[in-house]
Amino acid sequence: MAYLTFDDGPSENTASILQILNQNGIKATFFLIGKSAEKNVDLVKREVNEGNVVGNHTYSHSISYNEGAENFLDDVQRCNQVLKSILGDQYSSKLMRFPGGYLGHGNRLVPYRDAVVKAGYTYVDWNDETGDAEGSNPAVPVLMNNLKVNTASASSDSVVVLMHNAGPKKNTVQALPEVI
Ligand SMILES: [Zn+2]
Repeated sequence: MAYLTFDDGPSENTASILQILNQNGIKATFFLIGKSAEKNVDLVKREVNEGNVVGNHTYSHSISYNEGAENFLDDVQRCNQVLKSILGDQYSSKLMRFPGGYLGHGNRLVPYRDAVVKAGYTYVDWNDETGDAEGSNPAVPVLMNNLKVNTASASSDSVVVLMHNAGPKKNTVQALPEVI
């Protein structure tokens, strides 16, 4: 089982990603940045109306993690409010992903994790990726090779694949049919 996840959208690439998903009969999970979501209301609605899951990737995507768990939770809650205001009853997931992931930060994020879990959120990391965050826009063969290596080394029968739905990541869109 492979779960495709796209962080950081919506972006100018969202419509293309949705089209490819639809052509292949595949659903994905989109972890949205609140400030991007409120500028792209129609794309957020399309993501959900076309059968995908929307999750919370904070309002500002501030990954410094220097401002304390309370301020971080405020940023998560603000994103939650944006998604609820756009999607209404269609949004109830309380699924979130930490900017930069949770695991990559060691013990530093324990108070942040405790705060979001206490507020009812479930956070999801990944155990597989195309590596599209390394450099500005890695070439399709690089992305595919990363995916093959990372999938082979994932210690699970199910993989959660990290990709990014951000404007510069054009090759993520180009690679998607092959990723699927
Ligand atoms: Zn992100």
